[in-house]
Amino acid sequence: MSQHLDEPLPTAAGGANPDCAYHQEDVERYYRANLEIENNRHHIEETREQITELEHTEAVELFKKQVGLLQKRLANDPQFFQQMFITEGTSAIAWEFQQDELGEAFTRTLWGLLLKNDDMSTLLLRFLWGIPLKFKRKFIRAIDKHLATRYPMFKGLSDGWPGKNNIPPYIRPPHERADDFDLVNQGYLGYMGLGYSFREVELFVWLEVLRDKQCDDRPCELGLPKMDGGENEGGCPVKIHIPEMIHLMGEGKFKQAFQLIKEANPLPNVTGRVCPQEIQCQGVCTHNERPIEIGQLEWYLPQSEKVLNANANFEIGEFTNPWSKADKPPIAVVGSGPAGLINAYLLSKEGYPVTVFEAFHELGGVLRYGIPEFRLPNDLIDDVVKKVRQMGGKFVTNFIVGKTATLDALKRAGFWKVFIGTGAGLPRFMNIPGEHMNGILSANEFLTRVNLMNAHKTDYETPLPETRGKQVIVIGGGNTAMDAARTARRLGGKVTIVYRRTREEMPARVEELHHALEEDIALSVLRSPREFTGNEKTHFVTHAVLDVMELGEPDASGRRRPLATGKTEEIRADLVIMALGNASNPIVKDAEPGLKTSKWGTIEIRSGSQETSIADVYTGGDANRGGSTAIKAAGDGQAAAREIAVNTPYSASEIRELVASAERYTGQGQAPKKILEKIELAEGIVEFVVYAPLIAKSARAGQFVRVLGWDKGELIPLTLADWDAGQGTIDLVIQSLGSSSMMLNQMEVGEVIHGIAGPLGLPSQLHRYENGETVVFTAGGVGLPPVYPIMREHLRMGNHVTLISGFRTRDLMFWAEPDERIGMLQAEYPELLDVIYTTNDGSFGINGFVTGPLEEMLENMKAGSGRPVGEVVTIGPPMMMRAVSDLTRPYGVKTVASLNSIMVDATGMCGACMVPVTLDGKMVRKHACIDGPELDAHIIDWDKFLPRFLQFRKQEDENKSRHGFG
Ligand code: FAD
Repeated sequence: MSQHLDEPLPTAAGGANPDCAYHQEDVERYYRANLEIENNRHHIEETREQITELEHTEAVELFKKQVGLLQKRLANDPQFFQQMFITEGTSAIAWEFQQDELGEAFTRTLWGLLLKNDDMSTLLLRFLWGIPLKFKRKFIRAIDKHLATRYPMFKGLSDGWPGKNNIPPYIRPPHERADDFDLVNQGYLGYMGLGYSFREVELFVWLEVLRDKQCDDRPCELGLPKMDGGENEGGCPVKIHIPEMIHLMGEGKFKQAFQLIKEANPLPNVTGRVCPQEIQCQGVCTHNERPIEIGQLEWYLPQSEKVLNANANFEIGEFTNPWSKADKPPIAVVGSGPAGLINAYLLSKEGYPVTVFEAFHELGGVLRYGIPEFRLPNDLIDDVVKKVRQMGGKFVTNFIVGKTATLDALKRAGFWKVFIGTGAGLPRFMNIPGEHMNGILSANEFLTRVNLMNAHKTDYETPLPETRGKQVIVIGGGNTAMDAARTARRLGGKVTIVYRRTREEMPARVEELHHALEEDIALSVLRSPREFTGNEKTHFVTHAVLDVMELGEPDASGRRRPLATGKTEEIRADLVIMALGNASNPIVKDAEPGLKTSKWGTIEIRSGSQETSIADVYTGGDANRGGSTAIKAAGDGQAAAREIAVNTPYSASEIRELVASAERYTGQGQAPKKILEKIELAEGIVEFVVYAPLIAKSARAGQFVRVLGWDKGELIPLTLADWDAGQGTIDLVIQSLGSSSMMLNQMEVGEVIHGIAGPLGLPSQLHRYENGETVVFTAGGVGLPPVYPIMREHLRMGNHVTLISGFRTRDLMFWAEPDERIGMLQAEYPELLDVIYTTNDGSFGINGFVTGPLEEMLENMKAGSGRPVGEVVTIGPPMMMRAVSDLTRPYGVKTVASLNSIMVDATGMCGACMVPVTLDGKMVRKHACIDGPELDAHIIDWDKFLPRFLQFRKQEDENKSRHGFG
């Protein structure tokens, strides 16, 4: 603060000195004269005279002596002076606080000092944090009264402060946000967008902290004990020391508060935004009407560091990469959701070499593919991944544990312990009439298309269901439903959320529901779909018939059970998004018979531990809990890390060997999927030999891979045509049909396919036919490559095989020459393999479809002549498979169709590859990716299944013309 001439001069001790009082006037005149010299050159001579005169007065001489002494003391003991000013300043402020109210000038000056962000302002923050509540109230009344012009958010703040009033974080207004994917809740830092400085925002945060009651029993951190002795109610699952964090912030020590939080939780910028605080830390806050915004504080700390210094979150100091140090055995983490990421981070930090194996091509789990960017920007997940990498953690994407490798294979590869954080990504459906129709999809599929595959952006390949101007209904009341509804709203849909209970029972975060309603999303409660109806020609849904519900007695969840009243109502629906929660994905469980799971398919753990029924295999998050929350997943990942990081049974040299082996394996998983060979088989049909060593090692006949051609491409399933485990290669045959296959077929040797995951699906079930029956394969066009490895397996088993291979015309035929695959098989198994070719135009072999020769065989069999048919395997265009299925049904011959359906994730997570089948007279959903790709053709409801291939025809045509494919 600059000293004004009209303000009283300070004495050396800050107060009035009675001994010098009568000389004070001389000193003041002397002081003024000196300032005049500095400031006013006009009267310089006159003033100098005054100074000379005054210099000889006793007062000025004494004053000078005192100044000299003070200077000496300041040089020798600066601490003393600092303390002196603090004491004086503080007592002056304390004096002000003793008055009835703080005056305007004082309030402005005090706020001005706080804004300075220097040592003094920190001291003042500490002072204000420490004063009793009644003085804090006085301060809040003062800023409310005197500073509200610049800070409208202070207006009225003192009403009910601290328990019932606070400064909320900045939320973008609904009309601004409802059409874009930018962050909605911008937190306190959002106020910077309104023109407030960083320091001002810091003070808003501090004002929030100032409301803290400094409770002794720490409910926000520890929760409240339950009567039944179970897990505490509320509290922080990752045990952030919330009271200490608040205390540090209260004293203006924001950096230290951030350090503290980081020790407990490496992803505060994520969990702070998506955690259901209202049932955790804030749910048990003693300010029960308006809890302290703990979640906002949690993410404010890392985000504000980021604002100040983009690299602040990545400063780790001295550190040796655990892989090079190699003094601890490697750990495999399966899944890169919050459970896996926190586990990988903490173990890497502890010095363990860690590899995270992730099924998708991107990292983050639901945080990335489920939660939209308007709630959680992807760069925050990237930050967490970067931190894990910085600690030495490695990532292998497109790796599906249970398919690419078993847990045992990971252990054999050198990983000492495994943490399974695979989530619960299997969407639930209602299995009601009409649910198979086009335009009805799971929220997982819808959100994955948008969040992961960027389907809403024009330069990305993945198709998106039409939403603009459409009536979209979202079924469900959880976070997933809110995210799906708000995403559809942003894509131009007119959205209604349909929920079977009332608003009070909705499991969604309160904030999400509130925001959804603000964004003009309608809510229809006590309604539940009983049927969907649609257009018979297009097979798209047009209406939903809803049961009108009422609430009955509470069910197991404690919420009142919804009961149908018998009344129904019909609403229009162009797009239906099913957000009914997720069940457990069976892939890991099915691959590991020793892994104990609950009746819901969740992986079980030992009591008081995260360890599963398999030694050295741990789990947590949704994989164990079923659909839960990000913070609980993170808490489990943290608990498992603690359990994993114990003394190892290995010697130093054994550890070094394990590390080297795990590193080699990780390298193989990370190897770019390079095209090594490209063979043009026929017009528009290309065979690629691609380097994919781990897939080649595990591939089995009948399996497929999920291919992402380029970073903006779409995920498409391609059945394996062949593989060579020794060379580490797989063979893919691709026909140019849609824009993705056309683009892929333009790739050349040396280029890298962005991602290949697999092998996926169940291998073919091979049966040994002892009585000479033949296994008939009907292959239509590029159905031949997937048929090839399956029939080769049958031949190797000693089964007789009849291949009926159909093409449109001779020019499209391939692999038929003696030095090509089928020719060579014929040479190898002359007794066991019969090959029949058909062409639609009669240009080669039998004129007609594959069904011709098949029918003849079946008739012969019926007549008792010819070889009996053991089973028929049909692969090719869906219409052909249906024709084969219809043909064989009356003969009672087992028939298997391998379905190359529309898929997104191909691991069961999206439900897109739904195949309606009839079992015991009931329609049941099967999924080609996890129940197939081979399914009993006779139970497939082809009438319902075939139209699904038309779902994205319009979008596909648009994509083709965008790429100039006509
Ligand atoms: P996930 O996040 O599901 O991650 C599992 C990962 O494992 C995935 O990346 C998956 O691809 C991978 N994986 C699966 N199988 C394999 C395999 N065999 N091999 C290799 N990798 C595999 N919670 C909140 O707290 N707040 C919210 O606001 C919230 N909103 C949500 C919104 C949506 C749309 C959804 C779907 C969930 C939401 N949740 C929310 C729940 C929360 O996201 C989950 O509880 C949390 O992500 C679970 O973390 P996880 O690590 O256990 O699993």
